[in-house]
Amino acid sequence: MRCPYCSSLENKVVDSRMGKEGESIRRRRECLKCVGRFTTYERVEEVLPSVIKKDGRREPFDRLKILNGLKKACEKRPISMEMLERTVEEIEKTLQEKGLKEIPSTMVGEEVMERLHKLDEVAYVRFASVYRSFRDINEFMSELKDILSNKDKEMKDVKDVVTEKPQKAEEKKQKPEKLLLPLDS
Ligand SMILES: [Zn+2]
Repeated sequence: MRCPYCSSLENKVVDSRMGKEGESIRRRRECLKCVGRFTTYERVEEVLPSVIKKDGRREPFDRLKILNGLKKACEKRPISMEMLERTVEEIEKTLQEKGLKEIPSTMVGEEVMERLHKLDEVAYVRFASVYRSFRDINEFMSELKDILSNKDKEMKDVKDVVTEKPQKAEEKKQKPEKLLLPLDS
């Protein structure tokens, strides 16, 4: 491993520890030439299935595209960046566990929609209706910018759809809301 300061290839490991969930090993190294210290990470190469697009072309799974799409979907919603990143990780993991070399983009799309639904109802509704007309997550993600450029119209559309209630929301058992009564004492 080349030293980032002097480009020497000679170094020694001064510390080595496992990442939080055992998914990586972090090594602290010291350059034998300039004594500069730097860190390297070792991790298992992730094998993700290729995505079969609607037109039959294959392309690599693009985690950044999914993340950016989720970011746009959750714009101005109380969802942290950390939650979005975790969601993308979950999507990746689910798709990986299918053990397939190739998956249709619709499968990616459904996975994204499902996670989005759990994450935020408004963000879900914002995109579910539009997504259904695309049926191709990559195409859909590229179109998001245009969809969001017309904010006023979009907000009106969202309200219209929200009153209809998406099907999945009805499946959930709705807990009766607790009434907050002033305590007599
Ligand atoms: Zn060095």
